[in-house]
Amino acid sequence: MAEGRPLKETAVEVPLLGPRSVLVRVSAAGVCHTDIHLISGAYDLGEGRKLTATGGGTLLPLTPGHEIAGSVEDLGSEAGATGIKKGDQAVVYPWIGCSRCRKCLAGRENVCEGRPAFLGFMRDGGYAEYVYVPDERYLVKSDGIAPAQSATLACSGLTAFSAIRKCDLHTDDLLLVVGAGGLGTTAIQIAKKTTGTRIVVADIDDAKLELATKLGADHTFNTAKVDVKDFVSGVRALNGGRGADAVVDFVGKPATVSFGLRLLGHEGKLVLVGLMGGGFQLPLPMLPLLGARILGSFTGSLAELGELVQLAKRGAVAPVVTASYRLEEANEVLSRLEHGEIQGRAVLSP
Ligand SMILES: [Zn+2]
Ligand SMILES: [Zn+2]
Repeated sequence: MAEGRPLKETAVEVPLLGPRSVLVRVSAAGVCHTDIHLISGAYDLGEGRKLTATGGGTLLPLTPGHEIAGSVEDLGSEAGATGIKKGDQAVVYPWIGCSRCRKCLAGRENVCEGRPAFLGFMRDGGYAEYVYVPDERYLVKSDGIAPAQSATLACSGLTAFSAIRKCDLHTDDLLLVVGAGGLGTTAIQIAKKTTGTRIVVADIDDAKLELATKLGADHTFNTAKVDVKDFVSGVRALNGGRGADAVVDFVGKPATVSFGLRLLGHEGKLVLVGLMGGGFQLPLPMLPLLGARILGSFTGSLAELGELVQLAKRGAVAPVVTASYRLEEANEVLSRLEHGEIQGRAVLSP
């Protein structure tokens, strides 16, 4: 991967194994929207400003892919203490931190303040036959879950899980999920199964909304077809005239954040996950008057991935995987994803 250019197949030597490292033979690598930002080279900050992928810490060129599931091919001389052995099926935690900063020491490597080594961003990732994982502790055993599904837990699933957890939901709360793609559909299942909360879903695609209903959404709105005013009053009516208790925005563009904020009730939380980008005017007094909060959420911790894999093993969460594609089809799959033509999640299999 190089900035602004389509992916190109290259031969990379299998690295020598460090003492605690593991070599994973990739069975499935999820295709994430973030890969599009990395390849296009930028995030849109609004008003013509951009955050470049390299400015965000990405080192190019490299192999993208941070949703990785596979089997353990080989172990370093001192690896095995966690019980991992050759042939084990595992999902790889890709959000590897510096292991020295405050956040890493507290177990939140995904928000590392030092120099992180995220797989597929700063180190070669999963669009490959093999992936080098520097420490065995980043492997979470996923036996019993199909690799195409377990792979997606590492980013899409984990991001949804951590975002829902930040909402601190109760059974009688009302949650609005904005965007019913791969993350949204996983979030709906997690929220329903772990909190029992009432769920409203907004998307611009009827097929995605139908899927959302099958997975546990109580009400859906096609925001391309209803007026924003009617949508806002419709959601309020579902919560006895109050706003939503939490909004999780998996799209993250001015229009969605704007209606998300308009919908927040007292002490409501808006958890912003999507990176579509842009900027907008914030009516400041609304936050203090409502005691509302806006939070950003970026993936999740290694411990959270462990919990999520357990949920998936119990069948409480089944990531929606559309189809598996060959590794050579990566550029085509990325382009279809960019144009919103992929329902659920697509994975590549070498
Ligand atoms: Zn991702
Ligand atoms: Zn760190």
